[in-house]
Amino acid sequence: MYLIPIPAFDDNYLWLLHDGKRALVVDPGDAGPVLRALSEHALQLESILVTHHHADHTGGVDALREATGAKVYGPATERIPQPYTHLNGGDTAHALGLDFQVIDVPGHTAGHIAYYTPHMNGKPLLFCGDTLFSGGCGRLFEGTPAQMLASLDKLAALPANTVVCCTHEYTLSNLRFAMAVEPGNADLVAYQAQCIRLREQNQPTLPTSMAQELLVNPFLRTRQATIMTAARHFDASARDDTTVFAAIRQWKNQFK
Ligand code: ZN
Ligand code: FE
Repeated sequence: MYLIPIPAFDDNYLWLLHDGKRALVVDPGDAGPVLRALSEHALQLESILVTHHHADHTGGVDALREATGAKVYGPATERIPQPYTHLNGGDTAHALGLDFQVIDVPGHTAGHIAYYTPHMNGKPLLFCGDTLFSGGCGRLFEGTPAQMLASLDKLAALPANTVVCCTHEYTLSNLRFAMAVEPGNADLVAYQAQCIRLREQNQPTLPTSMAQELLVNPFLRTRQATIMTAARHFDASARDDTTVFAAIRQWKNQFK
């Protein structure tokens, strides 16, 4: 199997997974770059997986369905271009010979889902949409800090070697913020240097791995003493898991 991030818009990745003949795409906000990749590799698009309703994740769904006949999967409780197979947490989507477990991850949007398969080229694979980014997490447009923290906890509990496919190249700006929160984190310093080199060569910083994120991502590390202390410097009322998480999220929203 081959896993390819197709760049779209300013900083989106439309993830294409294929076996040399058949393909699936995740969150195709734009059909054009997907159709070009399909013809370049002579692939038949079999499935479209959608994580949430935002236009930069769904804008190409109708055109791709029409051009290829691909089957569309998406969250049951959000407005996705019809017709599609409605999925809830605990469901399984069968695509490209793989079983994708559906995980409810509300927070960025109310009905956001993620897709997880335990064996792809011998490793677990996660498509997490705008819930988890490398070094960051999605903004809370429709959910509460408690919901987002619970969603991130579910993802953080996946195996450490999980290949994590995020849908935006936000890594460098996320890591600048992470360094402000946790300047003494040596893993973070090393990872930032590695990601700067990749971007200088115009390479994606993604996919990342869950092990890497657990070492550097402040939104997965809100129970670390260093992060709790930093959160209280930003907001003295931050005390428990949820209020620390909320403070870090608010700090990031304001960070320049
Ligand atoms: Zn979004
Ligand atoms: Fe997005």
